[in-house]
Amino acid sequence: MVSQFKNSQLYVELRPRCPKCKKEFLLDLKRFMPGGFHSCYACGSVTKFDGVLSEKVQVLINDLEATVRQVLDSLSAASR
Ligand SMILES: [Zn+2]
Repeated sequence: MVSQFKNSQLYVELRPRCPKCKKEFLLDLKRFMPGGFHSCYACGSVTKFDGVLSEKVQVLINDLEATVRQVLDSLSAASR
């Protein structure tokens, strides 16, 4: 898993495997959205994202981004 935080945007890269052909693919966690799916580039099989789980993930990402912005604000305020 690769995660970065740039310009108050969280970027988390996952490498799950296709359930059918087991080929690894890249998934930006922000694209793990309710109603979303992934089409395997190798075998073409479509994997639907779990609705409840993806909703939870998006809420957490938003929360984390908001919290990190607060951290950055508190640090830049302290340095003044
Ligand atoms: Zn596949």
